Amino acid sequence: MDIKHGFVDAVGNTPLIRLNSFSEETGCEILGKAEFLNPGGSVKDRAALYIIQEAEKAGTLQPGGTVVEGTAGNTGIGLAHICNAKGYKCLIIIPDTQSQEKIDLLRTLGAEVRTVPAVPYRDANNYVKLSGRLASEMENAIWANQFDNLANRRAHYETTGREIWEQTDGKIDAWVAATGTGGTYAGVAMFLKDQNPQVRCVVADPMGSGLYSYVKTGTITLEGSSITEGIGNSRITANMEGAPIDDAIQIDDPTAIKVVYQLLQKDGLFMGGSVGINVGAAVALAKQMGPGHTIVTVLCDGGSRYQSRLYNPQWLAEKGLA
Ligand code: PMP
Repeated sequence: MDIKHGFVDAVGNTPLIRLNSFSEETGCEILGKAEFLNPGGSVKDRAALYIIQEAEKAGTLQPGGTVVEGTAGNTGIGLAHICNAKGYKCLIIIPDTQSQEKIDLLRTLGAEVRTVPAVPYRDANNYVKLSGRLASEMENAIWANQFDNLANRRAHYETTGREIWEQTDGKIDAWVAATGTGGTYAGVAMFLKDQNPQVRCVVADPMGSGLYSYVKTGTITLEGSSITEGIGNSRITANMEGAPIDDAIQIDDPTAIKVVYQLLQKDGLFMGGSVGINVGAAVALAKQMGPGHTIVTVLCDGGSRYQSRLYNPQWLAEKGLA
């Protein structure tokens, strides 16, 4: 018998999918780790699970306690599912710029959701800082703190990275991914480099994020903006600190949008916007490295979370991206 014992047991062990149309165009094997197939629908189920399990082991999260987090959505969705499965309460602080689908889903899952204005990290009312303050004022509550809690990248070192290595039989030339907290990128990059230092590890970055300039020049500069959600950062998080980075690739929204529509129409994959940045960067890397290489990236979440935006021609037209 092959039975998963509940939600928690069903997290991880996702397939690695060959992205046929892009592989054929580039002559490389472009492979996507299908994180949208996690039971909570995104790559963040893994981090949410490790954060809760480590808090349980440390004794900071007690039965009936509350998990508090500031999140662009997917971490909150993962946490809300796991809180339901384990009997915890969940309080989510989310910037009001995130898609209505994610906010509605969090409420349906039973999380208490507070939307707040999107203000920069340096502002005391930034959603991440606010979530930390609220957690410290509550009894029997933990702050998940996904940006700086290393349980996040440990999840990807011990599970996602190991799975990718095993699924490719170690025949992987490059790993490329965008970063929100950096947990996925860093955990996988560290695991792969530990197996084979020759694996090229490349950060993908949307416009408006500072990682590309940080890798290229050593300083963070923010230029432009992106409609993608859950990725991009203006600082080096604890999860990104010390992560191996060989190079960075910047992908603009028109490229990312073309990529997600090609994935939908030619590969049958209905993906979120960050996947457009990831696969766009994998294609750019394939062109740099030349044919014959195996390049792995992440399919972070599915398109249904963005139907009112990325898959709404009117919304795209309003943004000048039709
Ligand atoms: N894509 C999406 C859609 C996300 O929600 C996130 C997490 N915020 C990421 C990518 C990036 O993952 P990480 O936080 O591990 O860098």
